[in-house]
Amino acid sequence: MSGPTITFPLNSETAIPAVGFGTYLISNDDAELTISSAIAAGYRHIDTASGYRNEETVGAGIKSGLHKEGIARADLFVTAKLWPGNPAWGDAPKTGEQTLEECDASLARLGLDYVDLYLIHAPYGGNMRLEQWRALLELKARGKARSVGVSNFNEGHLDEIKAAGLPMPDANQIELHPWSQKPKLLSYMKAHDIAPIAYSSLVPLSTWRVEKGQDSAKTDDMKADSTAFKAMAEKYGVSEAQLLLRWGVQNGYAVLPKSLNPDRMRQNIDLFSFSIDEADMATMATMDRGEGVAWASGDPSK
Ligand code: NDP
Repeated sequence: MSGPTITFPLNSETAIPAVGFGTYLISNDDAELTISSAIAAGYRHIDTASGYRNEETVGAGIKSGLHKEGIARADLFVTAKLWPGNPAWGDAPKTGEQTLEECDASLARLGLDYVDLYLIHAPYGGNMRLEQWRALLELKARGKARSVGVSNFNEGHLDEIKAAGLPMPDANQIELHPWSQKPKLLSYMKAHDIAPIAYSSLVPLSTWRVEKGQDSAKTDDMKADSTAFKAMAEKYGVSEAQLLLRWGVQNGYAVLPKSLNPDRMRQNIDLFSFSIDEADMATMATMDRGEGVAWASGDPSK
C-alpha cells in the first residue's frame, strides 16, 4: 500500500478513497474552513449527511478547497446520506418520492450536481425501507449518485433487499474498530460484494468525543482502557489514532476520521508509511467488545 490516495473497489466501475474526512459534530461556524483545510491536507473523500445539519457549510468548504487546490470536482469523492425518518422518534419514514426530493435538497445545499455515494443513514424506515432503497437505485440510474448504499444495516436488513430481488448496496457504512469488529456481518457483506466503510475508528481513544453532550455510549470499562493501544503504537513510532486507522485500511475498510485539529488532521491521513505486523493484527482480532458505542441515543441495528 502506498500513498494517501489509495482506493478500494466499490463496484465494478467505481472506487472509494481509503481515507475520508468525517464531518459529524463539525459546527456551521467551523465547517467551511475545516473542510477546505482537509482538502489542502490531501483528503480526497468527504463524508457528510443531512442529519449532521452542516451540508451548506460543508459544501462551501468543498468549493473553496477545490478552488484553492486547483483540483476538479471529479478528483473528490463525496458521500451524502438520506435521513430515513424514524417512527420511534415521532419522525415519519420518508416515502420513495420524498427520498428523491431529499437527495435533490442535499445536492442543492452541498452545491453539487451529483454525489459519489448516497447512503440510507440507518435502517429506521420500517415498512418504507425497501421503497427508500428503490428510490436510491433510481437516483443512481438518474446519475445523481454514482454509487448507492446503506449504513448501520445488519444481515436481516440486507437480506430484506436480497429477498425482494433488488440489486444489493455497493457499501454499508458501519461502526468498525478493534472493539467492534462485527465478523458475521462482514462475512455476509463479503459474500454479497458489499464494501465496508468504517466509522468512529477512534472510539478507543480517551480523546474521542470528549466535549459535553456528544453522543457516546462508552462504558466505564472502555474508558478505563483508554491506553490499550499505546504500547503497540509506540512500537511502530506512530500515534494510537494512526494505529487504529491503519487497522481499518489494512483490513480493507475505508476510514473516515474527523478532527478539527490541523496536526491530527494531517496525522490521520498519514497511514501508509508503516504496517501492523501479523502478530499484532492477530492480537487486535481478539479485542472485540460487541456492537459499538457511537449511537448513544438509539440502537441503529434495530
Ligand atoms: P472519529 O473516530 O473520527 O473520532 C473523532 C474524535 O477523535 C474527535 O473527538 C476528535 O477530536 C478526536 N481525534 C481525531 N483525530 C485524533 C487524533 N489523531 N488523536 C487524538 N484524537 C483524535 O469519530 P466520529 O464518530 O466523528 O466518526 C468519524 C466520521 O464517521 C463522522 O464524522 C461521520 O462522517 C461518520 N459517522 C457515521 C455514522 C453513521 O451512522 N453512518 C456514525 C458516526 C460517524 P478533535 O476534533 O478535537 O481532534
